[in-house]
Amino acid sequence: MKAVVYHGPKDVQVDDRPKPRIEKPEDIVLKITRTAICGSDLHLYHGNVKGMEPGQILGHEFAGIVEQAGERVEEVKEGDRVVIPFNINCGRCWYCRHGFWSQCDRSNPKGELGAVFGYGQTLGGYDGGQAEYVRVPYANTVPLKIPENLSEEQVLFLSDVLCTGYYGADMASVQPGDDVAVFGAGPVGYFAVVSAFLRGAARVFSIDHWPSRLDKTAKVGAEPINFDQEDPVGRIRQETNGKGAICIDAVGYEAVGHHLHDNSMNPAYVPQDSLQVINWIAQAAKKFSTVGVPGVYLAEYANFPLGQFFQRELQIKMGQCTVKKYNEQLLHLIEVGRIDPTQLISHRMKLDEATKAYDLFDKKGEATKIVMTP
Ligand code: NAD
Ligand code: ZN
Repeated sequence: MKAVVYHGPKDVQVDDRPKPRIEKPEDIVLKITRTAICGSDLHLYHGNVKGMEPGQILGHEFAGIVEQAGERVEEVKEGDRVVIPFNINCGRCWYCRHGFWSQCDRSNPKGELGAVFGYGQTLGGYDGGQAEYVRVPYANTVPLKIPENLSEEQVLFLSDVLCTGYYGADMASVQPGDDVAVFGAGPVGYFAVVSAFLRGAARVFSIDHWPSRLDKTAKVGAEPINFDQEDPVGRIRQETNGKGAICIDAVGYEAVGHHLHDNSMNPAYVPQDSLQVINWIAQAAKKFSTVGVPGVYLAEYANFPLGQFFQRELQIKMGQCTVKKYNEQLLHLIEVGRIDPTQLISHRMKLDEATKAYDLFDKKGEATKIVMTP
């Protein structure tokens, strides 16, 4: 079968690999019909993720048709259409039983952290779903069935970015009437904006520097702030009469830096400043609020603005989205037409074009989300 394989930094190729088989009685083999590239795949693509070795099949956002089911699988059967969460959950350990799906204690044979499809040895070493087929373990727990009236494309982002955007808003505890600032207008930021409004936000500011991405978040009601043109902290504080906003970091450690100090724009531009967004949020967040951080942080950061967090009594919540906590409810919102996730898609490509697709999505800009068909 064809599969998108990591060969090294900025080197992703479509290779021929053996078709997966049932290995355990609770496995299914899924024939993939739609698969997407995530911002998290770009951390792998940049060679930044520990435990990522050449030969890994990539991909953790996918939907498809059950091709074969192991003898103990009862919840789905051959021919069912399903969308798969990016995190792998056994459904029975303490973490799964308490709804902390992203930290399943059994799914990762190689370590402590919960397992993720296609994300290297540290997160379990599972093959990913940017391929024609994938093996899905714990099939009585993991898959979400797709209702007949919905297409795979409509529900694909329930695998990750739609749920993750919602997780950002939930971690930040967005309440009716809140003013919210979402840093990053990539796929996660886009769905954080959508989710903040679902939870009753009064205004949502969307901060990025790609006009095409800010146009997308503006279409779902956000007020765009281009950080190449204005200081986001000053603007947010001004718009909220000095109060600040409920903040969501949908960027993470690969943030573009802008070395802004004392609210004056300094054109000094650095390609990456891991704590840029956290530093902006330390000043832009409403006092006593909780900051939601779905954006990924990988290493240790000595300059974390702890002092400002203490003085302004900010809390912080972060981590991998617990997809199964939200995917059914969000599915229902798609069913009744309250969310149309397909609006985010900018490119539909063949799996064969994956090398080009990674290059395109890595450039951000026009490519707001790329969906591939095997
Ligand atoms: P993306 O790379 O497409 O989008 C990131 C956006 O942030 C880009 O549009 C970029 O221009 C913008 N940006 C860069 N620096 C900025 C700054 N200083 N201020 C504001 N915006 C800035 O990625 P994505 O798919 O939207 O994912 C966003 C983050 O969420 C990534 O770190 C990704 O790994 C993470 N993520 C986390 C989870 C989870 O479970 N927690 C799941 C999926 C993705
Ligand atoms: Zn992802």
